[in-house]
Amino acid sequence: MAMRPYIVGNWKMNGTRAMLSEARAIDRGAERLVKVEVALAPPFTLIHATRKEAALIGVGAQDCHAAEGGAHTGDISAAMIKDAGAGFTIVGHSERRANHGEKDADVRAKAEAVLAAGMAVIVCVGETEDQRDAGKAESVVARQLRGSLPQGDNAGEKVTVAYEPVWAIGTGRTPTVEEVGAMHRSIRAVLKDLYGEETGGKVRILYGGSVKPENAVELLGADEVNGALVGGASLTAESFLGIVVAA
Ligand code: PGA
Repeated sequence: MAMRPYIVGNWKMNGTRAMLSEARAIDRGAERLVKVEVALAPPFTLIHATRKEAALIGVGAQDCHAAEGGAHTGDISAAMIKDAGAGFTIVGHSERRANHGEKDADVRAKAEAVLAAGMAVIVCVGETEDQRDAGKAESVVARQLRGSLPQGDNAGEKVTVAYEPVWAIGTGRTPTVEEVGAMHRSIRAVLKDLYGEETGGKVRILYGGSVKPENAVELLGADEVNGALVGGASLTAESFLGIVVAA
């Protein structure tokens, strides 16, 4: 991997203030592992506290609303997330797409709101098992990328893509190294087409889905893999730092 690897923990709907000790431990561990960029996306309620407790790692959110503000009870805007201390926001996670009916156009609107608020964005894409079995994985992901990635001047400079096959999330199953490499090469080609050779060549492409310390070396070694988006294994400092070390 020529680029500095980027390892992001997605805590999903896990974590109360009691878990800040894990964030602190991750931060301390990351201090020794400067070759890797480390970040955590805790729930909204912990962003501010995590930013204060963990000085070195990146801190971000898992979603946002696309609107700047107004009558959206229960929603959080990108500017609020930034104000809480976040430097990036994840959008388009398959759990958002499946559980909240988010379409590519919604994801793009959110991604553009994140950039407008002055943060970086991680855009998630990934096929279902049926789509892979039907031989459509790469075309599905290409369509998601073309529909979800932010457009506009310099948009590509603040984007990270996370490829997360839906069937690999939280299941303990992963694609083979060859399958990951093939998908990441295909994503790279779409990124170059959308953002140009230079910018598209620099966008980091993370792999996500059942990444653990035991499989991290292999998955992170696949072609065009520039880091990982980690769910379950990011919940303790021990397992998350095991992945950071592997990178
Ligand atoms: P997992 O989740 O590591 O628990 O499979 C990854 C993700 O959904 O980001």
